[in-house]
Amino acid sequence: MTSSLRLVFWETTKACNLSCRHCRAVPQRSLAATELTTSRAFDLIDRIAEVARPVLVLSGGEPLFRPDLYDIAAYGVDTGFRLALATNGTLVTGRVAAKIADAGFSRVAVSLDSADPATHDRFRGMAGAHADAVRGILNLREEGVSVQINSTIAKHNVGEVEQLLGMALELGADALHLFMLVPVGCGLEIAPTEMVSAEEYERVLRWFDEQSKSCPIDLKATCAPHYYRLRAQRLEEERRRGDFSGTFIAPGTKAKAAPALVAAPAAGGSREHGQHLSAMTRGCLAGTSVCFVSNEGAVYPCGYLPVAAGNVRFERFADIWNNAPVFRQLRDPDALEGKCRECRYEAICGGCRARAYAATGSFLAEEPFCTYRPDLAPSNRPGPDAAGAAWHRQAEAVVKPIASAVRLRRGAPAVSGSTDSAG
Ligand code: SF4
Ligand code: SF4
Repeated sequence: MTSSLRLVFWETTKACNLSCRHCRAVPQRSLAATELTTSRAFDLIDRIAEVARPVLVLSGGEPLFRPDLYDIAAYGVDTGFRLALATNGTLVTGRVAAKIADAGFSRVAVSLDSADPATHDRFRGMAGAHADAVRGILNLREEGVSVQINSTIAKHNVGEVEQLLGMALELGADALHLFMLVPVGCGLEIAPTEMVSAEEYERVLRWFDEQSKSCPIDLKATCAPHYYRLRAQRLEEERRRGDFSGTFIAPGTKAKAAPALVAAPAAGGSREHGQHLSAMTRGCLAGTSVCFVSNEGAVYPCGYLPVAAGNVRFERFADIWNNAPVFRQLRDPDALEGKCRECRYEAICGGCRARAYAATGSFLAEEPFCTYRPDLAPSNRPGPDAAGAAWHRQAEAVVKPIASAVRLRRGAPAVSGSTDSAG
């Protein structure tokens, strides 16, 4: 079984000027000899194009360390990809912002963890990182570049999400994506002190979902797959009460990330065109619509699941994407284990395979940071009486179309990912 590729993250380099406490890479201060050269980078783009023309996110490390970044971007755009850049923002001067705009990046994702400079600087390991990143965002906005703010949520800033949203709106960002810490790389070391409990995550995700009903920008909880279960549960509850006004994709997301879902396409235009940046409708897309290419060419389901599928230096990307055992397993809806296997929300959630791997050594195990208990949920099975059966039919009416659409899309997805660092 093959799968439709929507989003590729390429870790262009490990070099970085910051020392973020949670970073999946142990950063270095200069480019390494083992990283893909410019010609290898062009070849990577050609090889990916044999499979699809997904959104290509140039990430790092700090991708602005690569002197050939704009050449690579231009090559990607000429090949028909939509390009996004994931940066810490600190190196985005006015001149750099203008070059980013000229290079044709569709969106730039800037990491910003707090409205409080001290909190951000501590987590990112550099005094002044917050001020520099904010300046970078303003420079990008000045050039008319679409900006997404990526915030890693952990114990140190879990109480500040409201201020984060206020800051995103104030800075004119088009999107705020909350990223739930995955205990991999340096994240593994800080996990005991920084991982937020499953209950606390659910509280934050519920609040975020509530905001998404009226927020004018694109809000997405990324690498928190059960966000989609929470949204579905909320819609089920609303519809049970007779309120059918809610939509699965939030209004701000439709307007900012998936305008084609709001407006009919122009004559001859593609409806898919506007769905490119973060209009995803499934929690975890690792290996089904998303993959990650490391700075040395190794291919993974995402940047946080350290199970290699192959290496583009030695194999064709198409062979890796279509045939690697790890990808085939992730595309098998019957392969999941534990409560995720039993869960009626599996098709729209799937659980984080990287957190499952970190907790158990198996990427197919159940998500350890989800509080849902399918065995206790009455809506997981038909109700025993007439009222219960009616409720069950209503709930199914909400979840089934979403779930079956996603299942179909495992063969030909109409969903897409985001410019977050993991996918
Ligand atoms: S497996 Fe990767 S892409 Fe999927 S939710 Fe976890 S970190 Fe995100
Ligand atoms: S049990 Fe698994 S599939 Fe179901 S909501 Fe929780 S993480 Fe998602």
